[in-house]
Amino acid sequence: MSYRITLIPGDGTGPEIVAAAKRVIDATGVDIEWEIQDAGVDVMDRYGTPLPDVVLESIRRNKVALKGPITTPIGKGFRSVNVALRKELNLYACLRPCKYYPGIRSKYQDVDLVVVRENTEDLYAGVEWEAGSPEAEQIIAMAGGRIHPGSAISIKPISAEATKRIVKYAFDYALANKRTKVTAVAKANIMKFTDGLFFEAAREVAKEYDGRIEYEERLVDNMCMQLVQKPELYDVLVLPNLYGDILSDLCAGLVGGLGVAPGANIGEESAVFEATHGSAPRYKGQNKVNPIAVILSGMLMLRHIGEKDAADRLEKAIATVIVEGQSVTYDMKPHRDDPTAVGTAEVGDAIIQEMERR
Ligand code: NAD
Repeated sequence: MSYRITLIPGDGTGPEIVAAAKRVIDATGVDIEWEIQDAGVDVMDRYGTPLPDVVLESIRRNKVALKGPITTPIGKGFRSVNVALRKELNLYACLRPCKYYPGIRSKYQDVDLVVVRENTEDLYAGVEWEAGSPEAEQIIAMAGGRIHPGSAISIKPISAEATKRIVKYAFDYALANKRTKVTAVAKANIMKFTDGLFFEAAREVAKEYDGRIEYEERLVDNMCMQLVQKPELYDVLVLPNLYGDILSDLCAGLVGGLGVAPGANIGEESAVFEATHGSAPRYKGQNKVNPIAVILSGMLMLRHIGEKDAADRLEKAIATVIVEGQSVTYDMKPHRDDPTAVGTAEVGDAIIQEMERR
């Protein structure tokens, strides 16, 4: 079977790591026709926007995309392309598996967690007003003295509908992937209405899976401590957008850092696979950063399209390259200035060679 998949190189170090990932995925033998689409700061001049319509149309048509990271310049007038993409395509579930592969330098060896983050609402909805704006002043007046005069305001919307959808996704993922427990995480003791609603809606969904998947709740501050002390007790975590973003990085840190943390944004119609990390623009063009997070995202993509054997072979080859510890980038060596560290492209070559040996 052949597939047509959208490939977004992104900007910063994105094009280098995506090129390595494309070569590795092609080497699995799965027949993919890549439709290359540019987005990010480098296309601003050409299209007047970092997210041209043709990119969205391509993903809508092909239903699957592999994406490199895209820079969000601070204070340049447009919001994150990554957030816009998730909103436009209604990619409501952000899936971030955090699995320890032997050979990775980490304080923890027994971690196999999956973070499921709600992607469409919460403080990421982009409903905010500058300090001194008429809207901010209006809300401050409505709050009856509970907000400092002159404050900037961000709104945190949480709905039962979006919460039930993401919690159902987490439970279905748990069932499909032989997981045993879903933990909902929020701060309902303080945000009684928003986070309270998140737990209430989650509990309702959990009842449908009673006897099949265990359900529990944690407050987000306590969850951070628990994850640092005993991450092996957790399995699938489901969280509102902001906590999900923060805990994804925490969990990535438990299993060796951003260089090995893959991800996916999934909706009813389409799915976009991308690493947790950003564009690391400092290292642009240096053939230096780790492509494994994007390659692992490609492995998740192969599973998503039903190419399980290719995904298994790819994951085994990545695991072998990691455990051997030779052909890995600087971030995976004992010291960051280790002269034996290889470049982005060479990690791709090593994974391809490993697949060819099998
Ligand atoms: P970042 O993840 O790009 O980089 C932070 C640091 O992590 C880097 O300096 C580097 O030391 C390390 N790192 C990241 N990726 C690595 C890799 N593949 N291999 C080895 N080391 C790696 O985070 P940032 O500096 O906060 O963000 C840079 C830009 O990326 C920002 O504009 C941000 O908005 C954007 N961003 C995009 C996405 C996305 O496209 N989904 C996600 C996060 C951040």
